[in-house]
Amino acid sequence: MMRTTAARCSVEDSGRMKSKTDYRSREKSGVAPGLDPSARRLPKEPRVLIIGGGFGGLALAKAAAKLPVRVTLVDRRNYHLFQPLLYQVATATLAPGDIAVPFREIFRGDRNVRFIQSEAMELDPERRVVHLRSGREPYDLLVVATGSEDNDLRSSSWAAHSLPLKTVEDSIAIRARVLAALETAEQQYADHNARGALTTFVIVGGGPTGVELAGALADLTQSTLRKNYRSIDAREAKIMLIQADDRLLPQYRPALSYDAERRLRSLGVDVRISTRVVDIGRGYVLLDSQGKRERVLTATVMRAIGVRPSGLADLLRRRLNALSDASGRILVTPRLALLRSSDTSTHQGPEDVFVIGDLAALDDGSGSPLPGQAPVAIQQGKYLAKYISARLQGKNIEPFRYRDAGQLAVIGRGAAVAQLPHVSLRGLPAWLIWAVVHLGQLIGFDNKLLVLGRWFWNYLTHQRQNMLITGELGSSSRLFGYHLPELEIARSEDKTRPVELGTRKKVIP
Ligand SMILES: Cc1cc2nc3c(=O)[nH]c(=O)nc-3n(C[C@H](O)[C@H](O)[C@H](O)COP(=O)(O)OP(=O)(O)OC[C@H]3O[C@@H](n4cnc5c(N)ncnc54)[C@H](O)[C@@H]3O)c2cc1C
Repeated sequence: MMRTTAARCSVEDSGRMKSKTDYRSREKSGVAPGLDPSARRLPKEPRVLIIGGGFGGLALAKAAAKLPVRVTLVDRRNYHLFQPLLYQVATATLAPGDIAVPFREIFRGDRNVRFIQSEAMELDPERRVVHLRSGREPYDLLVVATGSEDNDLRSSSWAAHSLPLKTVEDSIAIRARVLAALETAEQQYADHNARGALTTFVIVGGGPTGVELAGALADLTQSTLRKNYRSIDAREAKIMLIQADDRLLPQYRPALSYDAERRLRSLGVDVRISTRVVDIGRGYVLLDSQGKRERVLTATVMRAIGVRPSGLADLLRRRLNALSDASGRILVTPRLALLRSSDTSTHQGPEDVFVIGDLAALDDGSGSPLPGQAPVAIQQGKYLAKYISARLQGKNIEPFRYRDAGQLAVIGRGAAVAQLPHVSLRGLPAWLIWAVVHLGQLIGFDNKLLVLGRWFWNYLTHQRQNMLITGELGSSSRLFGYHLPELEIARSEDKTRPVELGTRKKVIP
């Protein structure tokens, strides 16, 4: 249904744009010529307020910096995060600073871009004002690019006993938990069960994030940590990848999925296909494979299973009657303007509020909504800058079209699968493309060099420079009859301070 709507909208638009009479009547009414009637003429140097400095918001802000507009970028963090490499922080190849760059550094030379570290809380569309946690921010054009959040709502037990991978803090928490589990296993010589659970790492979700994390963890335990312990052999660590679907990477061509599975198995990963996780609790996961239940003892469960739209989706629904799809993403017009429920007869948004990236749901004619991926967000950000430029000049602009350059996923060291528009690649050639693409997208020349250096060093030596267990060791928690030292990672900051593990105590029942 959405596709029909989008298509109809663009056809109607182009017909309307060519009408001379319409053009003149809109000039009289103060509507920018060549644009939708709801597109107000913009003031001189309009205020463009962007909420969210992820891939979409940043691409827009950088491109809009070259236009005669005043840009304000609001983000609750003071840095842009390159999420696709979070798994490499979680597995100690990269440091957080390699993949996160402060906005103030990024916009140092852009005099018309202002950054505010704050959080959008409320919206007053009548007055065109966004209420931030720290104050009010007026706008002429508002762009919401707040992406998605970890989806930990299946059950509170899942949230409490498994680790997501969405933020820098998450990646540091995973790194600390994996390394601390191995440290603890090194001391658990008396108890076979506890040691088994401590050296079992379960990843839930066989999409690109799960596959990449499993490959990198396998490489960490098989190679990097091989000689580091005395009473355990890190190579015996068990990495399980649980996939509910009947193949890994379901959005890839089947041959690439099977290749990814084969490579992961050759790295020693226990890949479970058509297997659902039905429960996660303290020290275990419960699996269901076509009715057959299995309880796996594990101290570390990582979730790589989907996200939900950012909380601002609710605000847009409440304040602007925004429409959303079944997953809660906000429906947008082909020009990325927010679609209101009162607009359904014409399918036009008000053209002063736009939504891009993971938060937006747009079917550009391919049959299904565009995926929540970085290139979609980047292309939409760049498109909006062109739209604003065209609108300032009173020109028309074609609807947004996504150019799909393919998708890539890494499997361990020096291997990947690449699904390009007309060809599939695997192994080292795919990894080289992956490396070039990711280095190209990283922000900052320093970061590109640093990351390239770390990859090269890791490739040659298997060594990793970031194997710190950071955070505080809090109260011990009971697991399999032992007190397992439990890390309480400060969720708001990386203290980057190695801590000593607490002492092992036998629980007296
Ligand atoms: C682990 C992981 C791996 C991934 N790997 C890949 C990959 O390999 N390839 C790929 O194409 N995609 C990948 N993705 C998906 C990709 O990162 C997203 O599609 C992309 O980040 C979406 O961009 P965005 O601009 O919509 O939102 P985001 O990049 O998520 O940015 C949203 C920004 O909004 C800010 N924000 C949120 N709420 C508020 C608020 N209320 N007020 C102020 N600021 C707010 C956040 O701090 C954040 O900076 C991965 C995602 C994850 C989590």
